Amino acid sequence: MTSCAVTGIGLLVTNDPARADGPLGEITNATVVVERGAIAWVGPAAAAPPADLGVDAGGGCVLPGFVDSHAHLVFAGDRAAEFAARMAGTPYSAGGIATTVAATRAAPDELLAAGIARLVAEMACGGTTTVEIKSGYGLTVADEVRGLALARAFTKETTFLGAHVVPPEYAGRTDDYVALVAGDMLDACAPYARWVDVFCDRGAFDADQARTVLEAGMAQGLAPRLHANQLAPGPGVRLGVELGAASVDHCTHLVDADVAALAGSATVATLLPGAEFSTRSPYPDARRLLDAGVTVALATDCNPGSSYTSSMAFCIALAVREMRMTPAEAVWSATAGGAAALRRGDIGVVRVGARADLVVLRAPSYVHLAYRPGVDLVASVFRAGRQLR
Ligand SMILES: [Zn+2]
Repeated sequence: MTSCAVTGIGLLVTNDPARADGPLGEITNATVVVERGAIAWVGPAAAAPPADLGVDAGGGCVLPGFVDSHAHLVFAGDRAAEFAARMAGTPYSAGGIATTVAATRAAPDELLAAGIARLVAEMACGGTTTVEIKSGYGLTVADEVRGLALARAFTKETTFLGAHVVPPEYAGRTDDYVALVAGDMLDACAPYARWVDVFCDRGAFDADQARTVLEAGMAQGLAPRLHANQLAPGPGVRLGVELGAASVDHCTHLVDADVAALAGSATVATLLPGAEFSTRSPYPDARRLLDAGVTVALATDCNPGSSYTSSMAFCIALAVREMRMTPAEAVWSATAGGAAALRRGDIGVVRVGARADLVVLRAPSYVHLAYRPGVDLVASVFRAGRQLR
């Protein structure tokens, strides 16, 4: 059994409130010892036990690996032209998803797998050590199963999103499509998924349709999460809370009853500021949620249409600059918040027994993630103790 000490940590973010005042549980001049892929010891360098090997953080800040709890990585093609048109004044609608559906259906398995691999590697380079991956660009039984089976090779956090949009061949027959999703498609996809998700919004699925799909998924052992209230106010957030969803994602258009429902629940509000950036839309009101006591996560929503970024650091910078989160809140939401949104206790935290997922920054503080936007500050990344960068 070989142990490895990460030394020279100028500032360590543990997210362990038992460690220090404040949500980040910060320790200065720290050491972390890793054994068998897990954290074996955490504390001040002066008290560190001996270890077989050493890695020097060079005085930089070390934090838990980012947990990107919302990403759509199974797709082919890109929508750069749509983005350019949008920046020239064309408004965003959920309809653009159909472009990606057509490209994804036409793509061979190898192309889709290579696309996922490329984005997961890009994320790892940026410090993301856990990613959730959704289906939702296949929208036939065979194509949704294929997407989830491919995603499973990269993460155990896979989400069945057959109810992403109504595919063109079901235009005008939304209830027939919902019956397919909650029936044969779910039966075939459930073995490859941990989660079930629905895009409950204007132009997508209504509350009754969302409930049908989510309850059917729950009956097959999948846990619910929701795309809700991105494009307009609506029933999605409260439906998610009622069904005990781990997370409701987007939360851009909320009424007071939505905030109150979230505040009294274990459902996380996952904010995806890359989507507002890329669709030039108003950002969610993070302060209102935080001040009400809601647990907030940040994720990329990485997808080819409305948010083609894989960078959690970019999302942190947006959250701080545009959503009035403090740097500490944004870092917590991108790590421990994402872990909460996936109901995981073993990631997003630097604590004995947790998975050894660590990001070493070329910067003395996590504040630099927002203070130096667009700059690659990641010096090295460890996932389960293995160096990815
Ligand atoms: Zn999404």
